[in-house]
Amino acid sequence: MEKQPLYEGKAKRIYSTDVADELLVYYKDDATAFNGLKKGTIDSKGVLNNKITTFFFDLLGKNGIPHHFIKRVSEREQLVKSLKILPVEVVVRNIAAGSLAKRIGWEEGRKLPAPIVEMYYKNDELGDPLINQHHIKILELATEEQVKTLEEYAFKINEILTNYLREKKIELIDFKLEFGVHNGQVLLGDEISPDTCRFWDSETGEKLDKDRFRRDLGNVEDAYKEILFRLTGEKA
Ligand code: UDP
Repeated sequence: MEKQPLYEGKAKRIYSTDVADELLVYYKDDATAFNGLKKGTIDSKGVLNNKITTFFFDLLGKNGIPHHFIKRVSEREQLVKSLKILPVEVVVRNIAAGSLAKRIGWEEGRKLPAPIVEMYYKNDELGDPLINQHHIKILELATEEQVKTLEEYAFKINEILTNYLREKKIELIDFKLEFGVHNGQVLLGDEISPDTCRFWDSETGEKLDKDRFRRDLGNVEDAYKEILFRLTGEKA
């Protein structure tokens, strides 16, 4: 396959392929936090997140969520449909943690009365600020119809994931989604992994996600491995 580098992000590299509307995504071990201020690597993260993302996109596809994922083609690479990414990060929350806990003054771990969706402007220079549908409109980040679709998909994805993860004794605290447009249709893109979700062990409350890196809790790689193991039974 002919592959040409197109773009390098914080955790992934994107290549064009010989098919016009298909891209190759390469998962790196690089990890960043706090808008790039903290940098490091997590051994094998790329391999683990490629597999974990593959698992979640398969699960969501089977449950009717349209997405960009085509197939995993190697340990660190997956083939996806190219998207025009909407510059909006969609966060779903079930339990207060991270920036929400700080913003509204709730202790981490307090259950929200119902899941909520938040939108952030995907803009590194501005530090991805929280925005609402009115900001999205004046900035022309997405149409009103697309915003409705994002919210609908976000809640549906939350239902599918929380139900699935509960059986694996994993509490889904919150997570971030990105969407894009392909042939006029809104598709789920990017990744779903311990980099983009908060996963707590249902029984012990142990953090099994990137907060181990952000907060220097240690055993970062083991946490990612544990998530892959609980989802697929695979020992990495
Ligand atoms: N998140 C992400 N990328 C970002 C910001 C947040 O994947 O650039 C995820 C994060 O892992 C968590 C959820 O979105 O699962 C909510 O994050 P929060 O707003 O609490 O921000 P943080 O505490 O990570 O700064």
